[in-house]
Amino acid sequence: MKCSSRICVLFLVLMFTSTGSLAKWFEKKQGIMGTNIHVELWSDSDALGEAATEAVMNEMRRIDELMSPYKASSELSQLNESAAKGPVTVSKELYELISLAVELSKETQGAFDITFASVGFLYDYRENKKPDQVNISKLLPAINYRHIQFIEVSHSISFANENVKIDLGGIAKGHAVDNSIAILKKMGIKHALVTAGGDTRLLGSRLDKPWMVGIRDPRNKDKQAVVLPLVDIALSTSGDYERYFEENGLRYHHILSPKTGTSAYEVQSVSIIGPSSTLNDALSTAVFVLGVQKGMDLLNMTPGYDGIIVDNSRKLHYSNALIE
Ligand code: ADP
Ligand code: MG
Repeated sequence: MKCSSRICVLFLVLMFTSTGSLAKWFEKKQGIMGTNIHVELWSDSDALGEAATEAVMNEMRRIDELMSPYKASSELSQLNESAAKGPVTVSKELYELISLAVELSKETQGAFDITFASVGFLYDYRENKKPDQVNISKLLPAINYRHIQFIEVSHSISFANENVKIDLGGIAKGHAVDNSIAILKKMGIKHALVTAGGDTRLLGSRLDKPWMVGIRDPRNKDKQAVVLPLVDIALSTSGDYERYFEENGLRYHHILSPKTGTSAYEVQSVSIIGPSSTLNDALSTAVFVLGVQKGMDLLNMTPGYDGIIVDNSRKLHYSNALIE
């Protein structure tokens, strides 16, 4: 056999991987939590590979049942229904996620605020529906994370204002992705990608390569604005293109400024890179609301977390650690 040594080595490696090992990639995509769930993982057993992808889908469904604002039976809906009347005892998981969300409100000058839903519930982006100014003004005082009161010993929560509603749409998917990665690790998986909508976390590498994760062009879904080689880290993107409608030349989209109860307009997308998908998710929403200057200031003060912003004139901005 005549060949250059490099081609021979490659040939032998291919022979070995196709006959000597049963390890392969497993992949599954499903629509859960109102978004696209995607899992890819490497396993040397069919049974484990199938069980692991299914375990991720089950975790996504479990969190949807617990935290969906659209399901009357969810713990979140029941909290919204009763917490203005008095303390409601919730699961440890929900209690801790809501506590974290409120901590993040404090750290983002109120830009991330799960009580945005006090006004936010009046928008229906699929039906081109938005509240009028009279209703926004009436409900705006209910947007304030300080209305959420905690009783640690009993894991109970109450609302100090009768119009408060909360929604975890800006943090629950990140939480679900972190939980999924923890489940995969426990099952012995070493290489995986889990995505829920704009939230992605990577376990290890893509075997001998990094994962290539794209940040899409906010105005063209078939184009990437940036592609990043990433290993063992997470990336979340918040964009004004996920859920929106247009009226009289204005874009009404799903990221709301807690100050005004209307869509935040300074940027088109924000991507955050950091170890926790839960924090990336909340930070991408917060930085979207804060805009370029305040958003970058926040990221440059937050160790371990970096960001890329596409502003309204489609210019890219990078946090300090990415350009150093
Ligand atoms: P997605 O991955 O669905 O695009 P994002 O991380 O971009 O989610 O967050 C958008 C979601 O966050 C909205 O659909 C809404 O549920 C919630 N949200 C909107 N504005 C705020 C805000 N100011 N603070 C916290 N959550 C918000
Ligand atoms: Mg988010």
